[in-house]
Amino acid sequence: MDVDIVCVGFGPATAGFLATLSKQLTNADGTPVIESAAMPGMPPQVLCYERADDLGFGVSGVVTRGRALQESFPELKTAGIPMAAPVGEEKVLYLLDPIGASRRSLALRLADSLIRATKFALPVEHHALNLPWTPSFLHKQDGMILSLGQFMQWVGAQVQSTGTVQIWPGTPVAQALVEAQKVVGVRLLDQGVDKQGAPAEGFTPGMDIHAALTVVGDGPVGAIGRQLDAQFGLPPGNHIRDWAVGMKFVVDLPADTTLKPGTVLHTFGYPEPEIFGFLYVHPDRVASLGIFVPSWFDSPTRTAYRYLQHWMQHPYLWRHLKGGKLRSWGAKTLGESGQQGEPHLTGDGYARIGEGSGTTNVLTGSGVDEAWATGTQLAEAVLELLKAKKPFTKANLDEAYVKRRRASWVEAEGRVAKKSRDGFQVGVATGMLGMALTGLTNGKFSLGKEPVQPWKRLPSVEAYYAGRVSPADLARLRAECKARNTSLHGALMDKIGWPAIPFDGQLLVSQQDALLMGGKVQAPHGYADHVVFQQPELCQKCGARVCIEACSGQAIYPGENGVPAFDREKCVHCGACLWNCSQANPGNPEHMNIAFRAGTGGLHSAEN
Ligand SMILES: Cc1cc2nc3c(=O)[nH]c(=O)nc-3n(C[C@H](O)[C@H](O)[C@H](O)COP(=O)(O)OP(=O)(O)OC[C@H]3O[C@@H](n4cnc5c(N)ncnc54)[C@H](O)[C@@H]3O)c2cc1C
Ligand code: SF4
Ligand code: SF4
Repeated sequence: MDVDIVCVGFGPATAGFLATLSKQLTNADGTPVIESAAMPGMPPQVLCYERADDLGFGVSGVVTRGRALQESFPELKTAGIPMAAPVGEEKVLYLLDPIGASRRSLALRLADSLIRATKFALPVEHHALNLPWTPSFLHKQDGMILSLGQFMQWVGAQVQSTGTVQIWPGTPVAQALVEAQKVVGVRLLDQGVDKQGAPAEGFTPGMDIHAALTVVGDGPVGAIGRQLDAQFGLPPGNHIRDWAVGMKFVVDLPADTTLKPGTVLHTFGYPEPEIFGFLYVHPDRVASLGIFVPSWFDSPTRTAYRYLQHWMQHPYLWRHLKGGKLRSWGAKTLGESGQQGEPHLTGDGYARIGEGSGTTNVLTGSGVDEAWATGTQLAEAVLELLKAKKPFTKANLDEAYVKRRRASWVEAEGRVAKKSRDGFQVGVATGMLGMALTGLTNGKFSLGKEPVQPWKRLPSVEAYYAGRVSPADLARLRAECKARNTSLHGALMDKIGWPAIPFDGQLLVSQQDALLMGGKVQAPHGYADHVVFQQPELCQKCGARVCIEACSGQAIYPGENGVPAFDREKCVHCGACLWNCSQANPGNPEHMNIAFRAGTGGLHSAEN
């Protein structure tokens, strides 16, 4: 099939692109402003393919200043989008460890003791220090709390009501079509295949969609962005090595909650010092809350789900959450490399937008607005080129799109943030100091060192738990977990003093129940497995098996012959397995032993 523009993924970046473009393709009388090359006499034919089974099945916080969003939709704050609220009170909290099970450095333990000893003079309550002052770059004043799902469904309706753009959910793009270094469109995923991708009953090969321009907005772990990175490389000096998995709950707060809509809480320090948390209050007693487990947290048994439950039970938060009920659950990778991971933004026939193009600001904790802004910049550039009848060559896209982007606040603020988190490569305290220093000096100074690949940082389970779990106990726990065919992290956390989770069937539910109750995870038949263990022999030799321990949906589990197995029915497409692997890909040390390909299914919730 031939079209003019094909888009990969319908996240905030592509939504910004389509919202801007769709309004300007036809005149008030319906005649085309610009004529389609693929279908003469018609406006340009624009298609967007989204992997997830419906629009708005993405995952995000979201608190945003919404500068770019409001430029596109000045009526945004009064548009009646479900779950939207203006930002009210904002707090940053340092959570002390009320249990004594977290792994804290000596410096942090001394700081904790000092805070506890002087708490009469400090704003400490319920084992949390409310930072009396936070720098302005952390604030989202005049911004909004949104549900990404509800917002994206609203935008999808706005865009499609123009009649100039088609969005197809449940349609993963398998690959970009590249001919002589030029992207000429995309190929959709084969259907009617077995788990390995071989043709089976009802085989239908993925359709080829030829387009003059391919817009790649497939997020931080998108297969098409990574295909282009593999084909064209990254600009010299850039690398994509920092990620976090964000796992969230949407919760009905108890009837007597005192939390007001618009409340924004950010936390750090607990359940492990490396784990950041957030709680945002929507109208009608609903809250979005969750944690980020970063790739620089060196634990080989980093499990977001169990940590999330301990985080919720921190006394500062639990007094607000006790009696609440899970509405929705989800997980997704956050690309934390920012500008350090910027790929080539354009090439002949393609342009990159959004988080996969390095937009996320790791200093201000903001990604939606930045992704959206780059989508609008590309749309303006595309309209300019279409009107001037100029082809989508790299040179033309650089002149029209990249130039706009370089001149914008996204670029300027991203540059400030670029090295702001390098301190976390050294430690949490250096990381926090580094962020403050970089923010307060507008990016002039930073602390820390160049990020290394996550697999290089990971110690063995034995080394990580040395001094806390004896080799004999570790061997026993390994044998017990192997016999039960379960992962190790739960047993290790129990062993070092984390209390058992008092499941209440409402808010504290098992990971499997969260999949069913909160994620409503589904996987259609007839598609290949999208998680592949590339070199099984590496898995057989792998001691850490981080992929199993860290999998957000327990979709990766111990398999036969020492190679993990994958269950598509439980996969939430968070992409965390891509970087939660302790073995380098022998062909490319920037990659690990897991391939995370385009795939169908996943979460069925539009609230996250
Ligand atoms: C838990 C969490 C909390 C966050 N909180 C905040 C916050 O409070 N404020 C904030 O500003 N930002 C926040 N972010 C970051 C923000 O969500 C991202 O920066 C933003 O969503 C990036 O938008 P994007 O369009 O570039 O990519 P994405 O949102 O990742 O969208 C990419 C889309 O492409 C689709 N796709 C991928 N591959 C394919 C394929 N092969 N074929 C078809 N479709 C494909 C995906 O399904 C997805 O819908 C948070 C992120 C997480 C994970
Ligand atoms: S995928 Fe990576 S972490 Fe998992 S078993 Fe194989 S080598 Fe180890
Ligand atoms: S297998 Fe699926 S759920 Fe598990 S980490 Fe990978 S993408 Fe996430």
